[in-house]
Amino acid sequence: MALKFSLTLALYGLITTVGLMLDTTDIFSFGIKGKLSVDPNDLSSASYDFGGQSRVEPMAVFYPVSDEDIAKLLKVAYESTQGFTVSARGHGHSVNGQAQTSNGIVIQMSESISKACRVNEKLKYVDVWGGELWIDVLKCTLRHGLAPKSWTDYLYLSVGGTLSNAGISGQAFHHGPQISNVYELDVVTGKGELKTCSEERNSELFHAVLGGLGQFGIITRARIALQPSPQMVRWIRVVYSNFTAFTQDQEYLISLHGQSPDAKQLDYVEGSVIVNGVGSLNNWRSSFSSPSNISSLVGVAKTGVLYSLEIAKNYQQTNANSTDQEINALLKRLNYIPATTFTTDLSYVDFLDRVHKAELKLQSQGLWDVPHPWLNLFVPKSRIEEFDKGVFSGILGSNSKGPILIYPMNKNKLVPVMLCILYADYPTSIANYNCSAKLKKILLSGARKALTRGALRDM
Ligand SMILES: Cc1cc2nc3c(=O)[nH]c(=O)nc-3n(C[C@H](O)[C@H](O)[C@H](O)COP(=O)(O)OP(=O)(O)OC[C@H]3O[C@@H](n4cnc5c(N)ncnc54)[C@H](O)[C@@H]3O)c2cc1C
Repeated sequence: MALKFSLTLALYGLITTVGLMLDTTDIFSFGIKGKLSVDPNDLSSASYDFGGQSRVEPMAVFYPVSDEDIAKLLKVAYESTQGFTVSARGHGHSVNGQAQTSNGIVIQMSESISKACRVNEKLKYVDVWGGELWIDVLKCTLRHGLAPKSWTDYLYLSVGGTLSNAGISGQAFHHGPQISNVYELDVVTGKGELKTCSEERNSELFHAVLGGLGQFGIITRARIALQPSPQMVRWIRVVYSNFTAFTQDQEYLISLHGQSPDAKQLDYVEGSVIVNGVGSLNNWRSSFSSPSNISSLVGVAKTGVLYSLEIAKNYQQTNANSTDQEINALLKRLNYIPATTFTTDLSYVDFLDRVHKAELKLQSQGLWDVPHPWLNLFVPKSRIEEFDKGVFSGILGSNSKGPILIYPMNKNKLVPVMLCILYADYPTSIANYNCSAKLKKILLSGARKALTRGALRDM
Protein backbone atom coordinates (compact mmCIF):
# COMPACT_ATOMS: atom_id res chain seq x y z
CA MET A 1 0.00 0.00 0.00
CA ALA A 2 2.82 2.37 0.96
CA LEU A 3 4.51 1.53 -2.32
CA LYS A 4 1.36 2.23 -4.31
CA PHE A 5 0.96 5.57 -2.59
CA SER A 6 4.50 6.75 -3.35
CA LEU A 7 4.23 5.57 -6.94
CA THR A 8 0.99 7.49 -7.37
CA LEU A 9 2.53 10.68 -6.04
CA ALA A 10 5.52 10.28 -8.27
CA LEU A 11 3.41 9.79 -11.34
CA TYR A 12 1.25 12.80 -10.67
CA GLY A 13 4.53 14.72 -10.64
CA LEU A 14 5.35 13.33 -14.06
CA ILE A 15 1.97 14.05 -15.50
CA THR A 16 2.31 17.75 -14.75
CA THR A 17 5.95 18.08 -15.77
CA VAL A 18 6.44 16.02 -18.89
CA GLY A 19 2.86 15.75 -19.98
CA LEU A 20 2.85 12.00 -19.69
CA MET A 21 -0.52 11.03 -21.14
CA LEU A 22 -1.17 8.28 -18.74
CA ASP A 23 -3.49 7.56 -15.90
CA THR A 24 -1.81 6.13 -12.83
CA THR A 25 -4.28 3.28 -12.88
CA ASP A 26 -2.83 2.35 -16.29
CA ILE A 27 0.61 2.10 -14.73
CA PHE A 28 -0.68 -0.12 -11.97
CA SER A 29 -2.40 -2.26 -14.53
CA PHE A 30 1.07 -3.00 -15.98
CA GLY A 31 1.95 -4.43 -12.59
CA ILE A 32 5.19 -2.50 -12.07
CA LYS A 33 6.54 -3.44 -8.67
CA GLY A 34 9.63 -1.26 -8.34
CA LYS A 35 9.84 2.14 -6.70
CA LEU A 36 9.54 5.29 -8.77
CA SER A 37 11.03 8.09 -6.73
CA VAL A 38 10.87 11.87 -7.01
CA ASP A 39 12.71 12.30 -3.71
CA PRO A 40 15.10 15.26 -4.21
CA ASN A 41 18.01 13.17 -2.84
CA ASP A 42 17.40 10.44 -5.41
CA LEU A 43 17.04 12.98 -8.23
CA SER A 44 20.23 14.67 -7.14
CA SER A 45 22.30 11.49 -6.99
CA ALA A 46 20.99 10.37 -10.41
CA SER A 47 22.15 13.70 -11.83
CA TYR A 48 25.72 13.20 -10.60
CA ASP A 49 28.49 11.30 -12.33
CA PHE A 50 32.22 10.77 -11.82
CA GLY A 51 33.09 13.30 -14.51
CA GLY A 52 31.39 16.05 -12.52
CA GLN A 53 30.98 18.12 -15.66
CA SER A 54 27.35 17.57 -16.50
CA ARG A 55 24.49 17.77 -14.02
CA VAL A 56 21.03 17.04 -15.37
CA GLU A 57 18.15 16.06 -13.09
CA PRO A 58 15.66 13.47 -14.30
CA MET A 59 11.95 13.71 -13.58
CA ALA A 60 12.09 10.52 -11.55
CA VAL A 61 14.36 7.64 -10.61
CA PHE A 62 13.14 4.08 -11.02
CA TYR A 63 14.42 1.24 -8.81
CA PRO A 64 13.32 -1.96 -10.58
CA VAL A 65 12.85 -5.23 -8.76
CA SER A 66 13.21 -7.39 -11.89
CA ASP A 67 13.90 -7.31 -15.62
CA GLU A 68 10.14 -7.58 -16.17
CA ASP A 69 9.71 -4.36 -14.25
CA ILE A 70 12.07 -2.60 -16.63
CA ALA A 71 10.27 -4.09 -19.62
CA LYS A 72 6.95 -2.80 -18.31
CA LEU A 73 8.30 0.70 -17.76
CA LEU A 74 9.79 0.79 -21.27
CA LYS A 75 6.49 -0.39 -22.69
CA VAL A 76 4.71 2.44 -20.91
CA ALA A 77 7.23 4.91 -22.36
CA TYR A 78 6.91 3.44 -25.85
CA GLU A 79 3.12 3.28 -25.87
CA SER A 80 2.35 6.57 -24.17
CA THR A 81 1.23 9.29 -26.54
CA GLN A 82 4.08 11.71 -25.95
CA GLY A 83 6.65 9.28 -24.62
CA PHE A 84 9.45 10.08 -22.25
CA THR A 85 13.15 9.33 -22.27
CA VAL A 86 14.65 6.52 -20.26
CA SER A 87 18.28 6.16 -19.30
CA ALA A 88 19.92 3.20 -17.58
CA ARG A 89 22.38 4.12 -14.85
CA GLY A 90 24.89 1.61 -13.57
CA HIS A 91 27.31 3.02 -11.02
CA GLY A 92 27.34 6.55 -12.46
CA HIS A 93 31.04 6.53 -13.40
CA SER A 94 30.57 8.12 -16.79
CA VAL A 95 32.51 11.31 -17.34
CA ASN A 96 30.06 13.38 -19.34
CA GLY A 97 26.46 12.76 -18.33
CA GLN A 98 26.01 9.62 -20.46
CA ALA A 99 23.63 8.04 -17.90
CA GLN A 100 21.62 11.22 -17.29
CA THR A 101 18.36 12.38 -18.82
CA SER A 102 16.59 15.67 -18.36
CA ASN A 103 13.00 14.94 -19.26
CA GLY A 104 12.49 11.35 -18.33
CA ILE A 105 13.34 8.54 -15.98
CA VAL A 106 16.71 7.20 -14.86
CA ILE A 107 16.61 3.47 -14.19
CA GLN A 108 18.98 2.79 -11.32
CA MET A 109 20.46 -0.63 -12.15
CA SER A 110 23.20 -1.02 -9.56
CA GLU A 111 21.45 -0.17 -6.34
CA SER A 112 18.24 -1.99 -7.11
CA ILE A 113 18.50 -5.73 -7.30
CA SER A 114 21.54 -7.85 -6.75
CA LYS A 115 20.79 -11.27 -8.08
CA ALA A 116 23.07 -14.05 -6.98
CA CYS A 117 25.48 -14.76 -9.80
CA ARG A 118 25.16 -18.21 -11.34
CA VAL A 119 28.39 -19.91 -12.35
CA ASN A 120 28.54 -22.81 -14.78
CA GLU A 121 31.85 -24.44 -13.88
CA LYS A 122 31.74 -26.94 -16.70
CA LEU A 123 31.12 -24.47 -19.51
CA LYS A 124 33.05 -21.72 -17.72
CA TYR A 125 30.63 -18.83 -17.72
CA VAL A 126 28.70 -16.74 -15.23
CA ASP A 127 25.24 -15.19 -15.54
CA VAL A 128 24.96 -11.83 -13.78
CA TRP A 129 22.47 -9.00 -13.37
CA GLY A 130 23.24 -6.01 -15.63
CA GLY A 131 23.62 -3.70 -12.63
CA GLU A 132 26.08 -5.96 -10.80
CA LEU A 133 29.46 -4.42 -10.05
CA TRP A 134 32.51 -6.20 -11.48
CA ILE A 135 34.07 -6.46 -8.00
CA ASP A 136 31.07 -8.59 -6.94
CA VAL A 137 31.28 -10.67 -10.11
CA LEU A 138 34.93 -11.36 -9.28
CA LYS A 139 34.18 -12.32 -5.66
CA CYS A 140 31.44 -14.68 -6.80
CA THR A 141 33.39 -16.44 -9.54
CA LEU A 142 36.49 -16.84 -7.37
CA ARG A 143 34.45 -19.10 -5.10
CA HIS A 144 34.45 -21.50 -8.05
CA GLY A 145 38.15 -21.03 -8.85
CA LEU A 146 37.22 -19.02 -11.96
CA ALA A 147 37.38 -15.38 -13.07
CA PRO A 148 36.41 -13.26 -16.10
CA LYS A 149 39.18 -12.85 -18.67
CA SER A 150 39.02 -9.17 -19.57
CA TRP A 151 38.85 -6.29 -17.11
CA THR A 152 38.78 -2.57 -16.56
CA ASP A 153 41.41 -1.04 -14.27
CA TYR A 154 38.72 -0.21 -11.71
CA LEU A 155 36.11 -2.75 -10.58
CA TYR A 156 33.41 -0.54 -9.03
CA LEU A 157 31.72 -0.19 -12.41
CA SER A 158 28.59 -2.05 -13.46
CA VAL A 159 28.50 -4.89 -15.98
CA GLY A 160 25.91 -3.02 -18.10
CA GLY A 161 27.92 0.21 -17.84
CA THR A 162 31.17 -1.20 -19.20
CA LEU A 163 29.51 -3.52 -21.75
CA SER A 164 27.74 -0.45 -23.16
CA ASN A 165 31.16 1.03 -23.83
CA ALA A 166 33.90 -1.55 -24.38
CA GLY A 167 35.69 -2.36 -21.13
CA ILE A 168 39.36 -2.02 -21.93
CA SER A 169 42.41 -2.62 -19.78
CA GLY A 170 45.86 -4.17 -19.97
CA GLN A 171 44.36 -7.61 -20.74
CA ALA A 172 42.54 -6.42 -23.89
CA PHE A 173 45.52 -6.96 -26.24
CA HIS A 174 45.15 -10.64 -25.43
CA HIS A 175 41.46 -11.32 -24.73
CA GLY A 176 39.92 -8.33 -26.46
CA PRO A 177 37.75 -5.80 -24.60
CA GLN A 178 35.05 -7.02 -22.21
CA ILE A 179 32.45 -6.85 -25.00
CA SER A 180 34.37 -9.60 -26.81
CA ASN A 181 33.99 -11.91 -23.81
CA VAL A 182 30.21 -12.12 -23.59
CA TYR A 183 28.25 -15.19 -24.73
CA GLU A 184 24.70 -14.01 -24.27
CA LEU A 185 22.58 -11.09 -23.03
CA ASP A 186 19.04 -10.46 -21.85
CA VAL A 187 18.02 -7.05 -23.11
CA VAL A 188 14.93 -4.88 -22.71
CA THR A 189 14.40 -3.13 -26.04
CA GLY A 190 12.98 0.33 -26.65
CA LYS A 191 9.58 -1.27 -27.24
CA GLY A 192 9.64 -2.88 -23.82
CA GLU A 193 10.30 -6.40 -25.07
CA LEU A 194 12.58 -8.67 -23.08
CA LYS A 195 14.83 -10.49 -25.55
CA THR A 196 17.68 -12.95 -25.21
CA CYS A 197 20.43 -12.35 -27.75
CA SER A 198 23.80 -13.83 -28.71
CA GLU A 199 25.93 -14.43 -31.83
CA GLU A 200 23.34 -16.97 -32.96
CA ARG A 201 20.09 -15.51 -31.67
CA ASN A 202 18.92 -11.91 -32.32
CA SER A 203 22.52 -11.21 -33.29
CA GLU A 204 21.79 -7.72 -34.59
CA LEU A 205 20.53 -6.69 -31.17
CA PHE A 206 23.51 -8.41 -29.48
CA HIS A 207 26.02 -6.48 -31.57
CA ALA A 208 24.16 -3.22 -31.24
CA VAL A 209 23.87 -3.37 -27.46
CA LEU A 210 27.52 -4.33 -26.82
CA GLY A 211 29.36 -1.03 -27.13
CA GLY A 212 26.03 0.66 -27.90
CA LEU A 213 26.32 3.46 -25.30
CA GLY A 214 23.04 2.38 -23.70
CA GLN A 215 21.09 3.47 -26.79
CA PHE A 216 19.84 0.13 -28.14
CA GLY A 217 18.44 -1.57 -25.07
CA ILE A 218 18.98 -2.17 -21.38
CA ILE A 219 21.17 -5.10 -20.41
CA THR A 220 19.50 -7.01 -17.59
CA ARG A 221 21.61 -10.20 -17.74
CA ALA A 222 25.04 -10.92 -19.18
CA ARG A 223 26.66 -14.32 -19.66
CA ILE A 224 30.37 -13.72 -19.26
CA ALA A 225 33.24 -16.02 -20.28
CA LEU A 226 35.44 -17.29 -17.44
CA GLN A 227 38.85 -18.88 -17.12
CA PRO A 228 40.64 -20.63 -14.26
CA SER A 229 41.70 -17.96 -11.79
CA PRO A 230 45.42 -17.50 -11.12
CA GLN A 231 46.54 -17.14 -7.50
CA MET A 232 49.25 -14.54 -7.88
CA VAL A 233 50.44 -11.74 -10.14
CA ARG A 234 54.00 -10.55 -10.72
CA TRP A 235 53.65 -6.82 -11.48
CA ILE A 236 56.57 -4.91 -12.95
CA ARG A 237 57.17 -1.32 -13.83
CA VAL A 238 60.11 0.05 -15.81
CA VAL A 239 60.71 3.60 -17.03
CA TYR A 240 61.85 5.02 -20.37
CA SER A 241 63.00 8.45 -21.45
CA ASN A 242 62.80 7.55 -25.14
CA PHE A 243 59.28 7.33 -26.57
CA THR A 244 60.26 5.19 -29.56
CA ALA A 245 61.96 2.62 -27.34
CA PHE A 246 58.91 2.61 -25.07
CA THR A 247 56.32 2.01 -27.80
CA GLN A 248 58.53 -0.50 -29.60
CA ASP A 249 58.81 -2.53 -26.40
CA GLN A 250 55.06 -2.33 -25.77
CA GLU A 251 54.41 -3.53 -29.33
CA TYR A 252 56.98 -6.28 -29.02
CA LEU A 253 55.36 -7.53 -25.81
CA ILE A 254 51.86 -7.70 -27.26
CA SER A 255 53.21 -9.33 -30.42
CA LEU A 256 54.20 -12.34 -28.28
CA HIS A 257 50.55 -13.13 -27.75
CA GLY A 258 49.57 -16.20 -29.72
CA GLN A 259 53.17 -17.37 -30.09
CA SER A 260 54.39 -20.48 -28.39
CA PRO A 261 55.56 -21.23 -25.84
CA ASP A 262 52.93 -19.63 -23.58
CA ALA A 263 55.68 -18.89 -21.10
CA LYS A 264 56.80 -15.91 -23.18
CA GLN A 265 53.43 -14.25 -22.98
CA LEU A 266 52.31 -11.61 -20.54
CA ASP A 267 48.82 -11.25 -19.12
CA TYR A 268 48.74 -7.49 -18.86
CA VAL A 269 50.48 -4.65 -20.71
CA GLU A 270 49.76 -1.01 -19.90
CA GLY A 271 51.79 2.13 -19.45
CA SER A 272 51.63 5.77 -18.58
CA VAL A 273 53.22 9.10 -19.38
CA ILE A 274 54.98 11.10 -16.69
CA VAL A 275 54.96 14.74 -17.71
CA ASN A 276 55.22 16.22 -14.27
CA GLY A 277 58.39 14.73 -12.85
CA VAL A 278 58.28 12.11 -10.11
CA GLY A 279 55.24 13.84 -8.57
CA SER A 280 53.09 12.08 -11.17
CA LEU A 281 54.36 8.71 -10.08
CA ASN A 282 52.54 9.36 -6.87
CA ASN A 283 49.22 9.82 -8.61
CA TRP A 284 46.22 7.68 -7.81
CA ARG A 285 46.94 5.17 -10.55
CA SER A 286 50.31 4.18 -9.18
CA SER A 287 50.65 1.54 -6.54
CA PHE A 288 54.40 1.52 -6.96
CA SER A 289 55.13 4.67 -5.10
CA SER A 290 57.32 3.61 -2.22
CA PRO A 291 59.73 6.36 -1.08
CA SER A 292 62.81 4.38 -2.20
CA ASN A 293 61.27 3.77 -5.58
CA ILE A 294 60.51 7.46 -6.04
CA SER A 295 64.02 8.54 -5.04
CA SER A 296 65.54 6.15 -7.57
CA LEU A 297 63.66 8.08 -10.27
CA VAL A 298 64.49 11.61 -9.23
CA GLY A 299 67.60 11.70 -11.42
CA VAL A 300 65.98 10.44 -14.60
CA ALA A 301 62.87 12.60 -14.09
CA LYS A 302 64.96 15.71 -14.68
CA THR A 303 65.38 14.67 -18.28
CA GLY A 304 61.81 15.67 -19.21
CA VAL A 305 58.85 13.48 -20.19
CA LEU A 306 59.15 9.87 -19.05
CA TYR A 307 57.19 6.80 -20.03
CA SER A 308 56.33 4.04 -17.62
CA LEU A 309 55.68 0.52 -18.89
CA GLU A 310 53.55 -1.70 -16.64
CA ILE A 311 53.43 -5.41 -17.27
CA ALA A 312 52.08 -8.36 -15.32
CA LYS A 313 52.25 -12.12 -15.42
CA ASN A 314 49.73 -14.33 -13.65
CA TYR A 315 50.98 -17.46 -11.92
CA GLN A 316 50.18 -20.17 -9.40
CA GLN A 317 52.29 -20.24 -6.26
CA THR A 318 53.78 -23.57 -7.27
CA ASN A 319 55.20 -21.95 -10.44
CA ALA A 320 56.91 -18.98 -8.76
CA ASN A 321 60.42 -20.06 -9.79
CA SER A 322 59.68 -20.56 -13.46
CA THR A 323 57.81 -17.23 -13.47
CA ASP A 324 61.01 -15.53 -12.26
CA GLN A 325 62.97 -17.05 -15.13
CA GLU A 326 60.38 -16.13 -17.75
CA ILE A 327 60.11 -12.54 -16.57
CA ASN A 328 63.88 -12.10 -16.38
CA ALA A 329 64.27 -13.43 -19.92
CA LEU A 330 61.62 -10.99 -21.16
CA LEU A 331 63.08 -8.00 -19.34
CA LYS A 332 66.47 -8.65 -20.97
CA ARG A 333 64.85 -7.98 -24.35
CA LEU A 334 63.58 -4.52 -23.35
CA ASN A 335 65.31 -1.14 -23.65
CA TYR A 336 64.23 0.70 -20.49
CA ILE A 337 66.43 2.67 -18.06
CA PRO A 338 68.01 -0.16 -16.02
CA ALA A 339 67.87 1.53 -12.60
CA THR A 340 64.12 1.96 -12.82
CA THR A 341 62.87 -1.61 -12.46
CA PHE A 342 60.31 -2.11 -9.74
CA THR A 343 58.70 -5.48 -9.08
CA THR A 344 56.02 -6.59 -6.70
CA ASP A 345 54.01 -9.78 -6.15
CA LEU A 346 50.42 -9.65 -5.05
CA SER A 347 47.32 -11.78 -5.02
CA TYR A 348 45.22 -11.81 -8.17
CA VAL A 349 42.37 -10.00 -6.38
CA ASP A 350 44.65 -7.30 -5.00
CA PHE A 351 46.09 -6.75 -8.46
CA LEU A 352 42.68 -6.45 -10.13
CA ASP A 353 41.33 -4.24 -7.34
CA ARG A 354 44.41 -2.00 -7.20
CA VAL A 355 42.67 1.28 -8.06
CA HIS A 356 40.19 0.93 -5.19
CA LYS A 357 43.00 1.36 -2.65
CA ALA A 358 43.90 4.64 -4.27
CA GLU A 359 40.22 5.61 -4.33
CA LEU A 360 39.94 5.14 -0.56
CA LYS A 361 43.04 7.24 -0.02
CA LEU A 362 41.79 10.05 -2.25
CA GLN A 363 38.33 9.90 -0.67
CA SER A 364 39.86 10.39 2.77
CA GLN A 365 41.59 13.52 1.41
CA GLY A 366 38.42 14.81 -0.28
CA LEU A 367 40.08 14.41 -3.68
CA TRP A 368 37.89 11.74 -5.28
CA ASP A 369 34.69 13.71 -5.85
CA VAL A 370 36.28 16.39 -8.01
CA PRO A 371 35.72 17.06 -11.74
CA HIS A 372 37.31 14.47 -14.04
CA PRO A 373 37.43 15.78 -17.60
CA TRP A 374 38.80 12.50 -18.93
CA LEU A 375 39.29 11.66 -22.56
CA ASN A 376 39.94 8.29 -24.19
CA LEU A 377 41.45 8.10 -27.66
CA PHE A 378 42.58 5.41 -30.05
CA VAL A 379 45.63 6.76 -31.84
CA PRO A 380 46.81 4.81 -34.91
CA LYS A 381 50.34 3.44 -34.73
CA SER A 382 51.33 5.55 -37.74
CA ARG A 383 50.64 8.81 -35.81
CA ILE A 384 51.77 7.92 -32.31
CA GLU A 385 55.23 9.56 -32.55
CA GLU A 386 53.63 12.75 -33.82
CA PHE A 387 51.11 12.56 -30.98
CA ASP A 388 53.91 12.27 -28.44
CA LYS A 389 55.74 15.32 -29.77
CA GLY A 390 52.63 17.44 -30.12
CA VAL A 391 50.70 16.44 -27.01
CA PHE A 392 52.87 14.79 -24.33
CA SER A 393 56.01 16.83 -24.87
CA GLY A 394 54.23 19.80 -26.39
CA ILE A 395 50.79 20.84 -25.13
CA LEU A 396 50.97 19.07 -21.76
CA GLY A 397 54.55 19.97 -20.92
CA SER A 398 54.75 19.90 -17.15
CA ASN A 399 51.24 21.25 -16.64
CA SER A 400 49.27 18.05 -16.24
CA LYS A 401 48.74 16.44 -12.88
CA GLY A 402 46.26 13.71 -13.77
CA PRO A 403 47.07 10.18 -14.88
CA ILE A 404 47.85 9.70 -18.57
CA LEU A 405 47.61 6.06 -19.54
CA ILE A 406 49.03 4.84 -22.83
CA TYR A 407 48.99 1.26 -23.96
CA PRO A 408 48.81 -0.76 -27.16
CA MET A 409 45.85 -2.68 -28.53
CA ASN A 410 45.85 -5.25 -31.29
CA LYS A 411 43.37 -3.84 -33.81
CA ASN A 412 42.17 -7.32 -34.67
CA LYS A 413 40.86 -7.60 -31.10
CA LEU A 414 38.39 -4.77 -31.73
CA VAL A 415 35.50 -6.73 -33.15
CA PRO A 416 34.21 -4.71 -36.15
CA VAL A 417 30.58 -5.73 -35.75
CA MET A 418 30.51 -4.17 -32.31
CA LEU A 419 32.66 -1.09 -32.65
CA CYS A 420 33.23 1.36 -35.43
CA ILE A 421 36.59 3.06 -35.62
CA LEU A 422 36.01 6.59 -36.88
CA TYR A 423 38.90 8.09 -38.78
CA ALA A 424 39.91 11.72 -38.95
CA ASP A 425 38.04 12.22 -42.21
CA TYR A 426 34.66 11.16 -40.76
CA PRO A 427 32.06 11.28 -42.29
CA THR A 428 33.43 11.40 -45.85
CA SER A 429 34.76 7.86 -46.13
CA ILE A 430 32.49 5.78 -43.92
CA ALA A 431 32.35 3.09 -46.59
CA ASN A 432 35.98 2.14 -45.83
CA TYR A 433 35.56 1.97 -42.06
CA ASN A 434 36.32 -1.06 -39.95
CA CYS A 435 32.64 -1.67 -39.06
CA SER A 436 29.79 -3.99 -39.81
CA ALA A 437 27.49 -3.11 -42.71
CA LYS A 438 24.78 -2.36 -40.18
CA LEU A 439 26.88 0.17 -38.28
CA LYS A 440 27.98 1.81 -41.51
CA LYS A 441 24.34 2.11 -42.50
CA ILE A 442 23.46 3.74 -39.20
CA LEU A 443 26.31 6.20 -39.57
CA LEU A 444 25.50 6.93 -43.19
CA SER A 445 21.84 7.54 -42.50
CA GLY A 446 22.78 10.17 -40.00
CA ALA A 447 21.38 8.09 -37.19
CA ARG A 448 24.48 9.00 -35.22
CA LYS A 449 22.45 12.00 -34.15
CA ALA A 450 20.12 9.59 -32.39
CA LEU A 451 22.95 8.51 -30.16
CA THR A 452 22.27 11.32 -27.77
CA ARG A 453 21.81 10.89 -24.11
CA GLY A 454 18.56 9.45 -22.91
CA ALA A 455 17.21 8.57 -26.35
CA LEU A 456 16.86 4.83 -26.34
CA ARG A 457 16.94 3.53 -29.89
CA ASP A 458 14.37 1.08 -30.99
CA MET A 459 15.69 -2.24 -32.33
C1 LIG B 1 38.02 5.38 -11.81
C2 LIG B 1 37.55 4.89 -13.15
C3 LIG B 1 38.33 3.98 -13.85
C4 LIG B 1 37.92 3.51 -15.09
N1 LIG B 1 38.70 2.61 -15.74
C5 LIG B 1 38.31 2.14 -16.93
C6 LIG B 1 39.09 1.18 -17.61
O1 LIG B 1 40.15 0.77 -17.16
N2 LIG B 1 38.63 0.72 -18.79
C7 LIG B 1 37.45 1.15 -19.34
O2 LIG B 1 37.07 0.65 -20.39
N3 LIG B 1 36.71 2.05 -18.72
C8 LIG B 1 37.11 2.57 -17.54
N4 LIG B 1 36.36 3.51 -16.93
C9 LIG B 1 35.18 4.03 -17.63
C10 LIG B 1 33.96 3.19 -17.32
O3 LIG B 1 34.12 1.89 -17.81
C11 LIG B 1 32.71 3.76 -17.98
O4 LIG B 1 32.55 5.08 -17.61
C12 LIG B 1 31.49 2.94 -17.59
O5 LIG B 1 30.42 3.29 -18.45
C13 LIG B 1 31.08 3.22 -16.18
O6 LIG B 1 30.22 2.22 -15.74
P1 LIG B 1 29.02 2.60 -14.78
O7 LIG B 1 28.39 1.34 -14.31
O8 LIG B 1 29.40 3.56 -13.75
O9 LIG B 1 28.04 3.22 -15.89
P2 LIG B 1 27.15 4.55 -15.92
O10 LIG B 1 28.00 5.76 -15.84
O11 LIG B 1 26.08 4.42 -14.91
O12 LIG B 1 26.57 4.38 -17.39
C14 LIG B 1 27.42 4.45 -18.49
C15 LIG B 1 26.67 4.25 -19.80
O13 LIG B 1 26.17 2.92 -19.86
C16 LIG B 1 24.75 2.91 -19.94
N5 LIG B 1 24.28 1.81 -19.11
C17 LIG B 1 24.49 1.62 -17.78
N6 LIG B 1 23.93 0.46 -17.40
C18 LIG B 1 23.38 -0.10 -18.50
C19 LIG B 1 22.67 -1.29 -18.75
N7 LIG B 1 22.42 -2.18 -17.78
N8 LIG B 1 22.24 -1.54 -20.01
C20 LIG B 1 22.49 -0.65 -21.02
N9 LIG B 1 23.15 0.49 -20.83
C21 LIG B 1 23.60 0.76 -19.59
C22 LIG B 1 24.31 4.29 -19.45
O14 LIG B 1 23.06 4.65 -19.97
C23 LIG B 1 25.44 5.15 -19.94
O15 LIG B 1 25.30 5.46 -21.30
C24 LIG B 1 36.71 3.99 -15.68
C25 LIG B 1 35.93 4.92 -14.98
C26 LIG B 1 36.34 5.36 -13.73
C27 LIG B 1 35.50 6.35 -13.02
